[in-house]
Amino acid sequence: MIPMDRSSRPIVRQMYDLLYAALGPQHWWPADTREEVIIGAILTQNTSWKNVERAIGSLRQADCLTLRRINSIAADRLAELIRSSGTHRVKADRLKNLTRWLQSRFDGDLDALFALERRAARRELLSVTGIGPETADAILLYAGGVPTFVVDAYTNRILRRHYIISPDGSDYGATQAIFERTLPPDDRLYGEYHALLVETGKRFCRKRAECERCPLVALPHDPSI
Ligand code: SF4
Repeated sequence: MIPMDRSSRPIVRQMYDLLYAALGPQHWWPADTREEVIIGAILTQNTSWKNVERAIGSLRQADCLTLRRINSIAADRLAELIRSSGTHRVKADRLKNLTRWLQSRFDGDLDALFALERRAARRELLSVTGIGPETADAILLYAGGVPTFVVDAYTNRILRRHYIISPDGSDYGATQAIFERTLPPDDRLYGEYHALLVETGKRFCRKRAECERCPLVALPHDPSI
C-alpha cells in the first residue's frame, strides 16, 4: 500500500503538536560542533546513544574528535578508540571513508559540501561507502542545517501503528515524502520532530507499546501492528 499522503497530512501535523506539548524540546543533536555531529551520526548506526557517548568521550580524550584527526590516525587506533560503539572496525572504516572522501572531493571543507543544492549534497554523501539515507539525512539536517527529514525505525513503527503507512512498511523516500510534503522546509522543525519521534519510540512505542502513557494515545492507532 502506498502511504496515504492526503489523509495523513493533518495527522502528521497533529502528531508533532501533541509530542511537542507533552515532551518539549529535545535539544538535538547533542554535540558541540558539526564535526562531532557527523562522527556521532556514523557511530550511532545500530547502537544506543549511550554507547556512542562513550566512544565520543574516548575520541575527545585522545584529541581525535575532528575529521582532520580521524583522517590522519591509523584505522586500528581509531577502531580501538570507538570500541564501545559496537562493530568498531566497520565504523572505523566508515569514518575513514568519509574523511578521505571529504578531503578528496571538497578539500576537507564542510562549507563547500553544505553549499550544494540539497539533492546534490545528499547524492554526494550517499556515494560514501557505509553512509545510507538515514545517516546522510542526519548529517545534512543536524550538521548542515539542510531541511531534509530523517526517517528511522521508530518513525516507521509509529507511522505504521497510526495507519499512515502500510503494515508492510514503506520505503525510505516514501516515508520521508509524507513529512516533507506536509511540513514547511524548516530544519529546526524537522530536527525537533525527528528527535520527538525517537523519544516516543524509546519511551512508549517499543515492541510492546505503552499507549496509555503515550502523548499520541488520542489519535487512531493499533499497537499490535
Ligand atoms: S505507543 Fe501507542 S499511542 Fe504511542 S505511538 Fe505507539 S501506537 Fe501510538
